[in-house]
Amino acid sequence: AILIEAVDKWYGTFQVISQVSLTVAAGERIVVCGPSGSGKSTLIRCINRLEEHQAGRIAVNGVELADSVRNIDAVRRGVGMVFQHFNLFPHLSILDNCALPQMLARGTPRREAEDRAMQLLRRVRIAEQAAKFPGQLSGGQQQRVAIARALCMEPQVMLFDEPTSALDPEMVKEVLETMVSLAEDGMTMIVVTHEMGFARRVADRVVFMDAGRIVECAGPDEFFDAPRHERTRSFLHQIL
Ligand code: ATP
Ligand code: MG
Repeated sequence: AILIEAVDKWYGTFQVISQVSLTVAAGERIVVCGPSGSGKSTLIRCINRLEEHQAGRIAVNGVELADSVRNIDAVRRGVGMVFQHFNLFPHLSILDNCALPQMLARGTPRREAEDRAMQLLRRVRIAEQAAKFPGQLSGGQQQRVAIARALCMEPQVMLFDEPTSALDPEMVKEVLETMVSLAEDGMTMIVVTHEMGFARRVADRVVFMDAGRIVECAGPDEFFDAPRHERTRSFLHQIL
């Protein structure tokens, strides 16, 4: 579903991504971890073209990320993104947060958009809050709405950038459970997170980034029990 090949990216003269290659098959779950500033967010933002890379190739669902606007729209339609700070529209109800993007981006009739929104709000177990506004929900509930909103666009791939790191501890679990159920349904996912319990349970591969490079990429058992690189070991030692 996602092909990343020898990608380089600079911010001005600062190289933030160096020779990163990663292939993610349909239905695969990848967890990305690494120290602050290692380029995790930049890498996943390159996948839906929120950032541009300068060298190498990225292809999503068979569409090459080139300069053409048509390609970018095609790619974004297939890729859902969930951020650390939910990014819900504060002045719209929960239902409208989920329905309006479908109506605006795809011309879906309101009735159909609202039906799909309610279906996905039920799936993240928050349908009874549909008439409320984001400010009336807890952080964990808002993040589940953000997941439902992304799913309303029927993406083939979901990208998560530290979806639980802004949440109070008691709300982390409900969001992780939503993500586990998504994984169990076979969604292709790339998740930047330091929730290593989630990584062990769900990830097909765990990627460790440092200074813009992929240092280690392995299945969870090998990654946690027998990492090959000293930098991975010292990182795990710090966070576990
Ligand atoms: P964190 O764990 O703190 O979220 P990260 O691994 O997601 O870190 P990035 O946000 O990808 O790291 O940033 C990687 C590097 O690029 C950092 O040194 C950051 O300061 C720099 N950077 C990020 N965005 C920009 C930008 N728009 N312009 C210039 N430098 C940037
Ligand atoms: Mg980040």
